Order: sequence, then C-alpha cells, then structure tokens
Amino acid sequence: MNLGRRGGQRSKMSTVEKFTHTLHEYERSQSSKEIYRCIHPDCHHYKRREFLLGKRAQCFKCKSPFILTRLQLKNFHPVCEYCTKSPKAKENLVAKELAERLVMSEELIKTLGLVE
Ligand SMILES: [Zn+2]
Ligand SMILES: [Zn+2]
Repeated sequence: MNLGRRGGQRSKMSTVEKFTHTLHEYERSQSSKEIYRCIHPDCHHYKRREFLLGKRAQCFKCKSPFILTRLQLKNFHPVCEYCTKSPKAKENLVAKELAERLVMSEELIKTLGLVE
C-alpha cells in the first residue's frame, strides 16, 4: 500500500486573498458520503472522510475544537463528543449545577435549622 505521495503536492495558490484557518468546521458533501467540506464561506478546504479520522475540527454546535472519530464522521455535521452525547448537554450541565447548588442550600438551610 503506497499512499505516500509527499513532495508532489501542488498547491493551488490563488491570486485572490488567501484565507487560512486551522480549525475547519465540516459538513458532509451532498454528493458523496466520503467527502467532508469546510462550511466557512471563505474556506475551500475539503477532505475524504478517511483522512479526517483523528484530525482536529471545530464543533458544528458549540464551536469548540475536538478530534474527529469514526462516530463523528457518520454525521452530516460532525460535532464534538460533548454535543454528541446530548444536544442539551450544556443545559443539562447548568441544570445539574443548579441542582447541586440547590441541594447545598437545602442542606445549609437544614443545618441552620430553618426547615423542620
Ligand atoms: Zn476551513
Ligand atoms: Zn460541541
């Protein structure tokens, strides 16, 4: 298996303004399940799914960087692990924190003897 084609890379440098960013936000191609493209309006980056495995990308939902896994690459819009688990993960976290705070204050109230 010879996949190494290093050195022979031709870069298409356009005379138009160069736009570069390292974190791409991917969307699966409409025409091929194997191709993902960056959705940034100024970025023309796209890659085959197999080459994206293990690469860092930007989460479609929370916009934070994450590593693409096989699981993410089944989605039309790959999202980070956090967003995969639950679309409401953030809300849940807030709710959890609130609940913890509530429990804490309840205990505080109890210890202070404000509740029978
Ligand atoms: Zn991009
Ligand atoms: Zn995310």
